Amino acid sequence: MKRFEAIRPAVPIEGTDETFPVHRIYCVGQNYVAHAREMGSDPDREPPFYFMKPADAVVESGATIPWPSRTANLHHEVELVVAIGKAGSDIAAIEALEHVFGYAVGIDLTRRDLQAAAKAAGRPWDTAKGFDRSAPLSAIHQAADIGHPESGRIWLAVNDVVRQDGDLSQMIWRVAEAIAELSRYFELKAGDLLFTGTPAGVGALGPGDRLAGGIEGVGEIRLRIAAP
Ligand code: MN
Repeated sequence: MKRFEAIRPAVPIEGTDETFPVHRIYCVGQNYVAHAREMGSDPDREPPFYFMKPADAVVESGATIPWPSRTANLHHEVELVVAIGKAGSDIAAIEALEHVFGYAVGIDLTRRDLQAAAKAAGRPWDTAKGFDRSAPLSAIHQAADIGHPESGRIWLAVNDVVRQDGDLSQMIWRVAEAIAELSRYFELKAGDLLFTGTPAGVGALGPGDRLAGGIEGVGEIRLRIAAP
């Protein structure tokens, strides 16, 4: 009998009975001008940057997640998520979309209090961004079905009140550019996910909150924060 079992997190693929096995989760920071400004940065001066979450931080749409430990300021960030279907490194931007399998709606859950403390101390963001269940995700919609969205409304509502309401066209680095740049740091593999940044309107969540978000032409996500 084996004492250990290899576990690979996976996400449903819309319209199929297949799942997409998650390899790594990459995230772009501050990729919308208005959000960069609300976080105190100058988007004209500071290029976007990357951070990661563990693959098993994914949570399926419809889930109820427990309140994360060690935070009093849990924030929502609704984001277009790219699912990589073909490996590559040093990918040219003009060829980058050929590496995309599909797209999903994700929520980059953030312990904003821990992130602020990490920023102030010049420390890593792992406890702020890469905690358990910090990457809720809709099903993946295949590019073969929906194409490659370059514009369209991206929104998130908490308890039926819209808090984030932007458009994909407001992204500073386009999907192809974000993939190309990321592939200069890491060898991308099928199964990688890339959270592409959030529009303005991020804010605090509380126990019992209901979240609903969506991206025009991509899909929708629902999530609940457990009651106390
Ligand atoms: Mn984010």
